[in-house]
Amino acid sequence: MRLLLVEDDTMIGEAVATGLKRDGFAVDWVRDGKAADHALKVETFDLLLLDLGLPHLSGLGVLKALRARGQSLPVLILTARDAVTDKVQGLDAGADDYVVKPFDLTELSARIRALLRRQAGRAEPVIEHGGVSLNPVTHQVLHDGKEIALSSREFALLEALLDRPGAILSRSQLEQRLYGWGEEVESNAVEVHIHSLRKKLGTDYIRNVRGVGYRVAPAS
Ligand code: CA
Repeated sequence: MRLLLVEDDTMIGEAVATGLKRDGFAVDWVRDGKAADHALKVETFDLLLLDLGLPHLSGLGVLKALRARGQSLPVLILTARDAVTDKVQGLDAGADDYVVKPFDLTELSARIRALLRRQAGRAEPVIEHGGVSLNPVTHQVLHDGKEIALSSREFALLEALLDRPGAILSRSQLEQRLYGWGEEVESNAVEVHIHSLRKKLGTDYIRNVRGVGYRVAPAS
């Protein structure tokens, strides 16, 4: 899952980016409202973490522009201010949730997972499909009831494919989900991880749709 973090406070930004990467998210971090607005126009993100007090363009301005463009990704506001008006304005401008600084990173991570789940139309945290069950909280993956070990990239790839079973994801969409800016993407990284996942889950579990991309096999 790829997140855009907008935060001008270096200490908070670093702590959040590091913590969320450790939890398996690809995180891109910008420090002002204009950079955020630009990134949201040219890149695809699964969720936006948005500070309100930002240089150049306020968080509220970023949010209003985002919703005015019809972009529906979940938005979680990070606010230093415990003022009720900030939360109300944020939610009314199209945010989905907020946390008040200082917040606990494990709570932030849990709220992000809840928003992503809701976005995908699921109430249950565990994703099950075709004999595979994936738990985004514990990162545990079971295949026919047996636990299998996946690398963090393999896990992220499988999670992306299971997010909407049946949907075809192109190689570049998968790369975007796996890597943040500035991270070196080897040209055949997706193929390598798919190959490894097939060895662990069975060759037929992930299908290659020629010239289009990959998807998980339809549930039988
Ligand atoms: Ca700020």
